[in-house]
Amino acid sequence: MGKTFISLAVALALSCFSRAQVLTSGGRLKPEQAIMDIRHYTIALKVDIPDSSIDGYAVVDFVLSQASPVLLFDLLDSFHIHALSVDGSPASFDYAHSMITVRGAFSTGRHSVRVDYGGKPHIAIHPPWDDGFIWTRDSTGNPWVAITAEGTGGKLYFPCKDHPSDEPNEGVDMLITVPSGLVVAGPGLLQEVTPSGASVTYHWKTRYTINNYSIIFNVGKYKVVSRDYTTIDGHTVPMQFYVLEEHAAKAPHHLEILEKTVHEQEKYFGEYPWAREKIGIVETPHLGMEHQTMNAYGNKFRYTKVGGSDYDGLMHHEFGHEWWGNKITAKDWADYWIHEGICTFGDALYIREFEGEEAYDRYFARASHGFRNQQPIVLGHDIDEEAAYQPDIYGKGAFFMHTLRFVIGDSLFFPLLKGFATDPRYTYDNLVGTDDVEQYFSHGSGMQLKPLFDLYIRSVGLLQVSVRQVDAGHYAISTVGMPLTLPLEVGTDSGVQRIMVSSAEQIVASSSKPVIDPRVFYLTKVINAAPAAGG
Ligand SMILES: [Zn+2]
Repeated sequence: MGKTFISLAVALALSCFSRAQVLTSGGRLKPEQAIMDIRHYTIALKVDIPDSSIDGYAVVDFVLSQASPVLLFDLLDSFHIHALSVDGSPASFDYAHSMITVRGAFSTGRHSVRVDYGGKPHIAIHPPWDDGFIWTRDSTGNPWVAITAEGTGGKLYFPCKDHPSDEPNEGVDMLITVPSGLVVAGPGLLQEVTPSGASVTYHWKTRYTINNYSIIFNVGKYKVVSRDYTTIDGHTVPMQFYVLEEHAAKAPHHLEILEKTVHEQEKYFGEYPWAREKIGIVETPHLGMEHQTMNAYGNKFRYTKVGGSDYDGLMHHEFGHEWWGNKITAKDWADYWIHEGICTFGDALYIREFEGEEAYDRYFARASHGFRNQQPIVLGHDIDEEAAYQPDIYGKGAFFMHTLRFVIGDSLFFPLLKGFATDPRYTYDNLVGTDDVEQYFSHGSGMQLKPLFDLYIRSVGLLQVSVRQVDAGHYAISTVGMPLTLPLEVGTDSGVQRIMVSSAEQIVASSSKPVIDPRVFYLTKVINAAPAAGG
C-alpha cells in the first residue's frame, strides 16, 4: 500500500513538470494584444519528417475592441514568413524577436490574418520538462512526432496571441499533411482524411474554446482503439486511444483503466467537459501532457495498484486537467495552482474512492513532509509560466484543498467543488483567478476564508497552534495570528477530540500533552507555551 503512494508521488512529481528555459508564455499582456479577442485559429501545415520542418499557413480570426495601427502576434523566430495578408489583402509586417508586427489602419471589429510560413521548429531537449517538437521513431522504425508547448505556448509553431487570458472561443481547425501510412492525432473531431499522392491530410476540428498549448498534433504509426463511454449525465462519447500499432494489444485494458479514471473524476468534478467531441489519448514519446481531447500518454503502460486494480497515476493526473486547466483555466500563470493543485487533489480523491478515507489521510500526511514552502504559491499578478512554476503548486496546492475540505466539511465542500467546476461563470470562455476561488468558497461555505487563502496561497506561513499546560490534567489550546475560528483535532489520553480553536484558549482535558492535528489536516507550527506561574 505504501508502495502505491510512493509510485503516485513519483508520477505526480514527473507529470507535466515544467522546464528551466528562457522560452515562456504569459506575463504582462501587451497593450496591442489586450484589445484583441481571439476567436479562431486555422493551422494548415505539411510536416516534412526527414527535414524536421513544417510549412503551410495559419489564419487567426479575432475581434478588435478598438481601432489600431498595429497588430501584434507571437511566433518564435524559427521560421521564415513567405506572405502575410489581412482580410485578404497583403500587408506590410516585421518579424523579429519572436513577434510579428503588422502595420496599417485596422478598424474595430472582426479581422482575419493569414500567415504563410515555414521552417524548422524549436526542438525539445527533455520533454515534457522543456518544450518543442520531438522527432523520433518507434521501436519498429516508424516516424513518431510529438509537440509539447505548455511553457512556451502556441507561438512555438503557429502565430498567435500567446497569453493564457485569451483562448479561441470558436475553436480550431487543423489540417496536417503527413506521408501516407502515418496517422495524425489532434484535438476535437476528425473531419476528413484526404489522400493526395504520397501524402495524406488529416483535418481535425474542435468547436470548443481551447488553451493554446493544447493546440498541437501528434504523428505516428497509430492504430485507433475505441469504445463508447457514457457520461455521468448520460451522454455517449467516443473514447479513442491513438496507440502505436506495436502496442495495440495493450489498448483495451488501458481503456478500461481510463474509463475508471473518467468515472471517478466525473463524480467529483461533474460531466466530462468535452462530451460533444471525444475522450482522446495518444501515445507519445514524452511522459504526458494535458492536451484537450487528445491527452498525451507516455507512461509506457506502467501501472500501480489502487484498491487492488491497475491504476495509471500519470494518466489520471493528466486527465484531471481536462477539468482543472482545460475547462477551468487560470487567466494568469500566477494562479497556476488552480490547474496543478486542484488536479493533484483529484489524484488523492482517487485513493479515497478506491482505498478509503484512511488511505487518503495517509497520502496527505506523507505529502505534508515534502513541501518546500520557500515562496508563496501565488507570487503576484501577470507572472509568466517560467516564473510561476514551482513544485509547491502541485503538492501544497493539493494540501490546501485537503485543509479546505476539513474546514468546510464534506457536506458543503464536495458540492461546492463540483459546483465550481460546473458553473458557467468559472468555466469554458470564463477564465479564473485565485480571488474567484476564494470568493466562491467563502460565499458557499458562509465563512470568510481569506485568512486561510492568505496563509497557504499568498504566504509561506504555517497555522500556529499554542499549547499551554494549565495543570496536571488540562491544557489550553489556541491559535496565533489566525482570525478564523477553525476546527482542530487534538489527540488526548482519552482519544481524538475535535474542538473549535481560535485566539481564545480552549481547555482540553488530558493527562498527557495533546497531539495537535494527529491526522494532519493543516500545516501547523506548534508553540509550546510556558505553563502559567505555579501551574
Ligand atoms: Zn499537471
